[in-house]
Amino acid sequence: MFESLKKKFGGAVKEVQGEEIRKSDIEDNIRNILLESDVSFDTAERIIGDMTDFISRVKKRITRTEVSEALKSSLTNILTENSTDFDILNPGKKPFVILFLGINGTGKTTTVAKMANYLKKNNRRVVIAASDTFRAGAIEQLSILSERIGVNLIKHESGSDPASVAFDAIEHANARNLDYVLIDSAGRMQTNKNLIEEMKKMKRVAKPDMTILVLDAMIGQDAVHQAETFLKETPFDAVILTKLDTDARGGAILTISDQLQKPILFIGIGQEMDDLQSFDPEWYLERILPD
Ligand code: GDP
Repeated sequence: MFESLKKKFGGAVKEVQGEEIRKSDIEDNIRNILLESDVSFDTAERIIGDMTDFISRVKKRITRTEVSEALKSSLTNILTENSTDFDILNPGKKPFVILFLGINGTGKTTTVAKMANYLKKNNRRVVIAASDTFRAGAIEQLSILSERIGVNLIKHESGSDPASVAFDAIEHANARNLDYVLIDSAGRMQTNKNLIEEMKKMKRVAKPDMTILVLDAMIGQDAVHQAETFLKETPFDAVILTKLDTDARGGAILTISDQLQKPILFIGIGQEMDDLQSFDPEWYLERILPD
């Protein structure tokens, strides 16, 4: 994952080694790499600004190591400024209700199942609410996945009221003293008036303790626009970024961190149930920064 970004950063840093660094060197070398790697213009400018500030503080002539340090320091700030100390495994309320939002195809339904699997492997007791009653196949998909991972699923007929499915799942969790209720939801565009009303009803009925927006890393900067559209009508607390294993350019994480100002809680790195991991900025930086 992210080999191409690492190679590009490595090349850029190597080129400037031992030379007298001017602002324009950084701008030329690093900005292009960032923009090619799906980092937005604003985020790229922020990184360039951080690096040139850092370098002008150090000295005129600068080593390769110092260029790497400047880059690492800027990226670390971007990735950690919204990180949260919230511990998903010990949320302090039972059941802890999590609502998942996302556009169709982002990987929302798969992510709900992956999250249930993650919690179960950590000895937490979970029920899933199949509240995407709109997309043909979503209930069936969750039935197969929940059976595979051994987690209870509450489902109604296709087309039924999503809030009522969530309500039943919460009752189920209360009766059995379960730890989590994970609610899938319909993933049509957020500009759809009916969906907005449906989501508001869901929030009233299920009163989620946390709302997570699922975003597809492959769509890069568009993920930020998608998230901003959601924020207007159905606010969310955190993000899960899917399909990083297929994100050839690798920079979407930086743009999303910088521009959304929401924590990235987990990342999806494949289609299997175990392919979800909590997002660790160090893990990402190790993969993209030159050795
Ligand atoms: P939904 O419409 O948002 O509920 O999307 P689905 O959960 O049905 O996922 C759409 C496709 O994305 C499926 O083929 C999933 O297997 C795939 N998918 C989900 N997450 C990941 C991921 O992290 N990596 C990869 N490669 N594929 C994923």
